[in-house]
Amino acid sequence: MDKLQLLTELNDQIRTCDRCSLSITRKHALTGEGNINARLMFVALSPGAKEDVQNKMFVGPSGDVLNRLLDKAGISRESVFMTNLVKCMLPQNRKPQTGEIESCSLFLEKEISIIQPEVIVPLGYYATRAIIVKYHTKPEILNMSFKSINGRLLYSDKIKVFPLTHPSALLYDPSLEPETIKKYMRLKRFL
Ligand code: SF4
Repeated sequence: MDKLQLLTELNDQIRTCDRCSLSITRKHALTGEGNINARLMFVALSPGAKEDVQNKMFVGPSGDVLNRLLDKAGISRESVFMTNLVKCMLPQNRKPQTGEIESCSLFLEKEISIIQPEVIVPLGYYATRAIIVKYHTKPEILNMSFKSINGRLLYSDKIKVFPLTHPSALLYDPSLEPETIKKYMRLKRFL
């Protein structure tokens, strides 16, 4: 099977998944979207309320911020692949539970193995933590804070990871924007 067939099959499984209780409160389980031959794969935390209703990634307020960051960095949304760590909305934007991340992680792992990106770009603490735990076994990286690895390229035998600030963080603290733009601009070298 080619990439598209594999992804179509996987997406069918995601849409009908009831492996955790988030399936009860969601309207849609969001599948990844974008360029299936992308060198960059963005991994956000989960769909927000608007994303859940519209069944599309980054269409809410944080989507506006992401568009702005990508625009400043000279990267088109069409050139990257985007997905979520947790495919269903977290009610009231609450934190994900460990069991929810564990239940959903097999979908992300399959997406990564199908897309085979050059660099994984986890957005924010939870996505970064999950990716590092899975793909980076070096203790010195596992023990580092998100702040200290934000905007740094991390190599491992298996994959390259480039953690970045989640766009929603700028909604809470707009003063982060200039520094975040600089970090997003570093993505250009991977394209
Ligand atoms: S969050 Fe993931 S594991 Fe839970 S129901 Fe949605 S798709 Fe399934």
